[in-house]
Amino acid sequence: MHSTPQPLTSGPVAIGLHGGCGVMAEHEMSAAQWQEAREHLRLALVAGWNVLQQQGSALDAVQAAVLGMEDSVYFNAGYGAALNADGKHELDAAIMDGATLAAGAVCGAAHIRNPILAARHLLDAGEAVLMTAAGADAYAQTHGLDCVANSYFTTAQRVEALQAMREHQRAGTFKAARESEKHGTVGAVALDSSGHLAAATSTGGYTNKPVGRVGDSPLIGAGTYACDGVCAVSGTGQGEYFIRHVFAHDIATRISLGGLGLEQASGHLIMGEFREQGVGAGAITLDARGNVSAPYNTLGMFRAWVSVDGHAVVASHDQEFVVALT
Ligand code: ASP
Repeated sequence: MHSTPQPLTSGPVAIGLHGGCGVMAEHEMSAAQWQEAREHLRLALVAGWNVLQQQGSALDAVQAAVLGMEDSVYFNAGYGAALNADGKHELDAAIMDGATLAAGAVCGAAHIRNPILAARHLLDAGEAVLMTAAGADAYAQTHGLDCVANSYFTTAQRVEALQAMREHQRAGTFKAARESEKHGTVGAVALDSSGHLAAATSTGGYTNKPVGRVGDSPLIGAGTYACDGVCAVSGTGQGEYFIRHVFAHDIATRISLGGLGLEQASGHLIMGEFREQGVGAGAITLDARGNVSAPYNTLGMFRAWVSVDGHAVVASHDQEFVVALT
């Protein structure tokens, strides 16, 4: 049986990425390290962009971009993820298709090398949306995804960050901890040439988090959300607040029911209530026309995007760098 050929559509495409709002102060890494971190971000951007350029789906684009960041030492997801209070990694990830509202997510995974691939597998399978801990690891193994020892994710920087956070805990100075010691996350949003939106997020959570704690990233509507015709959202920051406010869905509702523009809707909580309460937060968001917004209320946020006119930008702090897409 032949399937009916789909008409070729070639609407505008766009993609946005974040690498977490918990970036270090500029003096805490060498110029060469900042450059390398931005290059990793650029490569993740190119990976996602290439999918869109080849008429691929927004879903495949966000997956490709997040996969690249999970494999980079500079971001708190996959390799180089934050350590929990037991000195172990528990990883969370989610992916959502704005066309169908199909979604897949894992939380508390300890052995899945690239949690975003397990999330995608769940989305495609269409049975469970969210799987936890050992169940998620077993699912990944059963379906042939790359599984690794928990120590694979550990890096020297994360061990140091854990020591620093334990020190803060002993001294009761958690509030004084730097955002970079506390958290990070990676995420991507995309609009494809058929007008579909998608979002994906992956994280190690925050350093020294209680064992078993689950953040906003794998919770659909909290840290990750996409709905065609409205927006795609991936958040980063203190997940508990994102969960309480159903953050990502809140942005979508402000657009679809409240009539707000992307910029205003995306910044509402981050630059308003969250900032007033000292809750470090950021997001990358994209609307149905391909407008990108990247609000954050911390010192900086790794972010990158390609707008509908092909303009590509990578940034960590205030300064934005125009980059090539090759
Ligand atoms: N939102 C993540 C979490 O709470 C952490 C972060 O983005 O900094 O798990």
